[in-house]
Amino acid sequence: MQNKQILDYIEQLIPERNDQLREIEEYAKKNDVPIMELIGIEALLQLLRIQQPKKILEVGTAIGYSALRMADALPSSQIITIERDEQRYIIAKENVKRLKRESQVILLQGDALELDSIVEQYGPFDAIFIDAAKGQYQKFFNLYSQFLADDGIVYTDNILFHGLVASSEIESRNVRQLVRKIKNYNQWLMENQDYHTAILPVGDGIAISKKRG
Ligand code: SAH
Ligand code: MG
Repeated sequence: MQNKQILDYIEQLIPERNDQLREIEEYAKKNDVPIMELIGIEALLQLLRIQQPKKILEVGTAIGYSALRMADALPSSQIITIERDEQRYIIAKENVKRLKRESQVILLQGDALELDSIVEQYGPFDAIFIDAAKGQYQKFFNLYSQFLADDGIVYTDNILFHGLVASSEIESRNVRQLVRKIKNYNQWLMENQDYHTAILPVGDGIAISKKRG
């Protein structure tokens, strides 16, 4: 997407995270856990600092990196986050404990598509952050936007999928299918009359959807 030189330049300007967060970043890198890219998470955190949501729902915890970054940036917010993978959930739980955020970050384990009745008890949410299986974004959106506060915002990560949404030559059939799903989601979201949506080409692409009044 953007020129690598520019991205390197921005990255080296971003202040170092504390040791504990850096350890999580290192772990993610070593173990191929797809946590948010640095410039992407910084942009998201800044949007959240402006918005000041009290309650955030995250779909896709992985090992808790983005949830812990949000907890750090918004000390008076509560974050409910869902992870399907048991191993990752366990590691996320350890990380939340190690960073002493147990009262702020609530971890739920299971398929997000089946946890709506549990999640509902924690709502309504001022912000919903969708960052799980890319083929199912529209399902996550439809299932959880019912618990969005009237002035709430849905943030969706990875909507540019390494720029592949703009590529016409994709060899792998599986990747092609996934790209088609993401493009369908982007199109649907941009046409959704209940929201104003803007796409930011930062990180892996973030859509910001604000409920219309
Ligand atoms: N938000 C994290 C990264 C999440 S990676 C961060 O930036 O730190 C995406 C995660 O979504 C993966 O760990 C995957 O296991 C999880 N996931 C995928 N589909 C899911 C589903 N249907 N329900 C819950 N979690 C899901
Ligand atoms: Mg992501």
